[in-house]
Amino acid sequence: MVGRLYVVGIGPGSPELRTVAAINAIRESDVVIGYNTYVNLISDLINGKEVIKSRMHEEVMRARLAIEKALNGHVVSLVSGGDPQVYGLASLVLELVSKEGLDLRPTIIPGVTAALAAAARLGAPLNMDFAVINLSNLLVSDEEIMMRIRAAVSGDFVIALYNPISKDVLVKAMNLISMFRGASTPVGIVRNAYRDSEFVLTTNLGSWMRYLEAVDMNTTLIIGNSRTYVYRGFMITPRGYRV
Ligand code: SAH
Repeated sequence: MVGRLYVVGIGPGSPELRTVAAINAIRESDVVIGYNTYVNLISDLINGKEVIKSRMHEEVMRARLAIEKALNGHVVSLVSGGDPQVYGLASLVLELVSKEGLDLRPTIIPGVTAALAAAARLGAPLNMDFAVINLSNLLVSDEEIMMRIRAAVSGDFVIALYNPISKDVLVKAMNLISMFRGASTPVGIVRNAYRDSEFVLTTNLGSWMRYLEAVDMNTTLIIGNSRTYVYRGFMITPRGYRV
């Protein structure tokens, strides 16, 4: 008998930011699969379950394994940090199901993505149209990343940058943004939002480089649009209400 496959977003880290649907899916599962970091973040939910931890770059293997286990009758949770559609495994799972014509209907459970978690820590920087851009060049070329940055910055979108793994790509992206926006444009840097050792900082396009060392793979950067300002540490993008 076919089991069930949940592709679960567990939020940024803190148990308080999990959805009830995510908790229920994980509780119902007898198999939990995910990166070490994510599995460790839900250690309070996985007692007595088969837990399969995996490393980076094993995404296809992990998704295949989750599908195989579900087809063999298990209830499986494939967990992602944040939301599983935001640079997570939801589409990969559905691609495998569709390409291989499998008789399985995975359930995708949304979660609080890093941009929203980081934004809440900074104030309300996303309160207008915003763009989320992934700086990882593992699956996308540098040219494509810069093309998206250029489009977002010229459209005056607030920009949230994920995966600042290569400092080179990050600096290139920020330099490109600085060609369109002034040095006083607010920049928020949030590392480990809603986790232990959370770090939150508000700076600007002219000074952000001073904090380059603070940026790691658990960091999201938010760059304001032409209207964003800072008041007592709050990064605020007005929606346009008269106040
Ligand atoms: N699916 C995840 C994103 C995976 S990509 C989500 O929806 O949040 C991994 C990137 O997300 C990291 O490089 C970082 O930029 C961002 N990120 C994930 N968790 C974070 C956290 N707790 N604090 C700050 N950034 C985070």
